[in-house]
Amino acid sequence: MPDRDPYPHPLPDTDLDVLVIGAGPAGLALAADLARYGVRCQVAERRPAPRPGARCPNVWRRTMYAYARLGQPPHELRAHGVPMRSKVFHVGDRTAAVSLLEDADDQQWPYPLLVRQDQQEEYLTALARQHGCPVRQGVTATVLDQEQDCVRVELSTPEGRSEVLRAAWVVAADGAQSLSRAAAGVDWKVRGHDGVAWWQVDAGISGVELPPEREDLFHAPYSHVGMVPLADGRHRVFLASGTEDATVRPSFGDVERLFREVVGPEARLHDPQHLWWHTPVEGRAEQWLTGRVILLGEAARVFPMPVHGLNTGIQDAANLAWKLSAVVQRHASVRLLDTYEVERRQVAEVLMERGERVLRAGVAADPEATLGPILIEGSPRIRTEPAPAYEASPLTAGAERFAEGCAGQWIASWPVHTPAGVWTVSTLQSQGQWLVLSPSRMPLSVTHPLNPRVVNRAQLAGCNRLMITIVRPDGYVGAEIPFGAGRSAQRSVLEYFDRVAGGG
Ligand SMILES: Cc1cc2nc3c(=O)[nH]c(=O)nc-3n(C[C@H](O)[C@H](O)[C@H](O)COP(=O)(O)OP(=O)(O)OC[C@H]3O[C@@H](n4cnc5c(N)ncnc54)[C@H](O)[C@@H]3O)c2cc1C
Repeated sequence: MPDRDPYPHPLPDTDLDVLVIGAGPAGLALAADLARYGVRCQVAERRPAPRPGARCPNVWRRTMYAYARLGQPPHELRAHGVPMRSKVFHVGDRTAAVSLLEDADDQQWPYPLLVRQDQQEEYLTALARQHGCPVRQGVTATVLDQEQDCVRVELSTPEGRSEVLRAAWVVAADGAQSLSRAAAGVDWKVRGHDGVAWWQVDAGISGVELPPEREDLFHAPYSHVGMVPLADGRHRVFLASGTEDATVRPSFGDVERLFREVVGPEARLHDPQHLWWHTPVEGRAEQWLTGRVILLGEAARVFPMPVHGLNTGIQDAANLAWKLSAVVQRHASVRLLDTYEVERRQVAEVLMERGERVLRAGVAADPEATLGPILIEGSPRIRTEPAPAYEASPLTAGAERFAEGCAGQWIASWPVHTPAGVWTVSTLQSQGQWLVLSPSRMPLSVTHPLNPRVVNRAQLAGCNRLMITIVRPDGYVGAEIPFGAGRSAQRSVLEYFDRVAGGG
């Protein structure tokens, strides 16, 4: 295996392999994943108790697969959620229904699901603990300094007790205002989006017909109102309006006034539970890795609209977890961690751009013109979730790059026909393993420190793939390798794993 590490691997006298600062969804998902791989980690969270409040109400499909990877039983997620099957746009007298079916072939998670963020954080905390990772609440972490082989962090409790801990790696998942980012000397670039106010409230709705399991969006000049059903019978109502000063805190009366203006005079809100207001701002950390400190979730980037952060954070964590565990366990060079930033920063940039577009469309002067294509098409299908692929990643290799289902694409939900029944790629990876699907006649055997699971032709029924497909632990195709003659395919597979272990 190539040895190109700029840093030595952690020395045995560190207290911990990884300290995760912040028990938001990104930090918790990472900690649960690392612990599942057997990494010694712990989470420090300055809040003494879980944060209440629905905040993010939804789970995208890829996020659900990330939950499944962590061992979250799908039925529990479903039991606390509402599937979101369609979106209906109302513009003047016109309406257009749009299906949110992400993938008709996906038997497990064909639609996005609505689950409150506090519920999701409860699951993630339980998963982290279940895998052996302590989540310490009421503990504030302060990054002191970085040494060659570790980071020194001070942990303090509200009672004034403090300890200094030496962690081989620190993951700063401490949110948009991250002090760890500042302590690590990373610049934070912020850009405001003037002229748009974003409000959200959880409330009951009357005076307007809202069938279950769908999102309704009402557009008017310079404003729009959307609503999605929550499991407790309320709706999450989000309202955007063009305004001179988006920093003004609205009252519930202001929210209801705008709601009725846009939705109709009969419409009413009642039993409000939470009211949020946002001044749309986007933020980017200049680097996501510096020495032994890695930024994750909103500590690394903040989207202009608060509608991607949780889902993307959990997916960022799924990308980082297998890489960091391979580095900690000495199966890969630290250079592998650079690919976390390469891959996930690109996803963040796409979402920044998309967020800005949606933000502007929501307060367009002429919504009919802006939403024209949707209104004309009638019932198209749109995706709630952007579908990133890692085509340009240094970890992507393969002859059929860029085609659907090929190198760089996410295929966790794909069915794999085995003599025992139809499984998904993700089920075959239940231990968070690399997967090598080999429909070649010649059985493949791969022994490598990255510990891939090989599924040979005899275990595949009716597989019509023409290549050996190597699937990364996060469900993306890493490489496609032609069968080739004799032992050359096997050699190519091993070379690919060596390349990953060397950092791409
Ligand atoms: C109303 C609303 C609606 C939203 N809707 C959506 C949506 O539809 N889809 C979506 O994907 N996202 C949505 N979001 C965004 C989502 O809530 C955030 O993006 C998400 O919480 C960010 O997760 P994170 O783990 O990166 O950071 P955070 O959740 O901010 O967690 C950071 C944690 O670090 C802790 N911390 C900070 N400093 C320290 C320290 N020094 N020591 C120890 N702990 C520390 C904090 O207490 C906090 O618990 C919404 C947000 C809001 C408010």
